This record gives sequence, C-alpha cells and structure tokens, in this order.
Amino acid sequence: MDNDITVRGVFSFRVEFSLQCPRCDRPLPFDGPLEKAHCNHCQSDIDIPRSYWIENLANSCRKMQNTESGMGTASMLIGTFHGNLTLARFDPYCDNCKTFFEDPWNLVHGSRYVCTECGTEYPVQQPPGWLSSEVPRINTLINAIFSEDDSACGADSGMIPESISCPSCAALLEVTGTTRFVKCKYCSGQLYLPDDLWLRFHAGKRKRRWFVICEYMDEE
Ligand SMILES: [Zn+2]
Ligand SMILES: [Zn+2]
Ligand SMILES: [Zn+2]
Repeated sequence: MDNDITVRGVFSFRVEFSLQCPRCDRPLPFDGPLEKAHCNHCQSDIDIPRSYWIENLANSCRKMQNTESGMGTASMLIGTFHGNLTLARFDPYCDNCKTFFEDPWNLVHGSRYVCTECGTEYPVQQPPGWLSSEVPRINTLINAIFSEDDSACGADSGMIPESISCPSCAALLEVTGTTRFVKCKYCSGQLYLPDDLWLRFHAGKRKRRWFVICEYMDEE
C-alpha cells in the first residue's frame, strides 16, 4: 500500500474547515473551497477571497506531506478570518461506515464514488480552475462543495421533520428546518426555532468532511 502511493506520487488528507461568521461569531462550516457562504444564524453572506483558500490549501499540502498516516493537526486561524482548520493524513474513506475507498488513486473526475460497504456516494471532482492554476499539486477533491448549487449532493441526508409545540397555543407543529421563523397554523403566532432544533436540521452540513488528493513535491 505504502509503496503504491510513493510510486504514483500522490497522497491524501482529510479536511474539516470552519470560519467564524464575521457578523455574529457563530462557526460556519466550509465543506469545500467555497467563495461564498451564507450564515444561517444571522442571514449574512460572506465572501471568501480565492487567495485565502490558495494560501491555506497550499500550506495544508505542505504540512500533510510531512505528517504520518493517521496523524493530524488542528489549527486556530487568525487574520482575515477567525476559524478552525483540522487536517488529518488519511487515505480517502467513507465517513458513514469508515471503510477505505477501493483504488482511491484512480478515481475519475466528475464521477461519484460509491462506498463498497454502505453505498454512500461521494462526488469526485477536479479542483476549480482558479485553485488548480495556483496550487497545481492538488489533483482531486472528494466530497467537497465549491458552489452553493452543489450543496444538494454528497453525503448529506434529507431533512426529516421534527415536532415542536407552539409557545402561544401549545399545538404540536411539524417543522422541516427550511426557515427559522415558523408560523403556527393554529394561532398564526410566529415562532423562532431554538438553536438545538435548528442545528439538528443543519448538523449534516456541519459534519461534512472532505478529502484532498495531492501530489508529493520536493521542498526547496
Ligand atoms: Zn452570522
Ligand atoms: Zn460506507
Ligand atoms: Zn400556535
């Protein structure tokens, strides 16, 4: 296995990335090198400059090349944005059942990898052009999102309705987490979904991990 990787000249690492919303300070998950993000708490839109991703991902590749398999680092980011970046040197695996991918170094861009154990699908993509041109050693992204339109695909599960009782009339309401304000159909009162319930709907998004397949490079 180890020989194989060296011969092919690539390795992979797992990424978990979140930034603090500059408006409300809540953590905002980044499920890939997204240029825009929407904060569900304060409803503000945040722009992430490409240079920010380029710098952080180039550093990550450098750091992970010298990290032993199974080991990782967690960094607090400061500067333009505050956040957390957790990296771990792992071959691609299914986040649902922890089975390693079969033949992970020959995945086809634009396809979906289907876990051999549990059937969970993972999008396999070429990095966006602006990233490839600056960090050409990044070869493939697995389970990453780079535009808001992609967010429907991948390992996220659908929304399962939850019940909450209306604070005004105590009627039991079914909510799906599409909006934070819900109108009670019995008393027409407005209710604001509490944090724990809101996060239950959006937790799948928060936990999404992505993998970067990267070429080995000699350091100068
Ligand atoms: Zn916010
Ligand atoms: Zn699986
Ligand atoms: Zn009500």
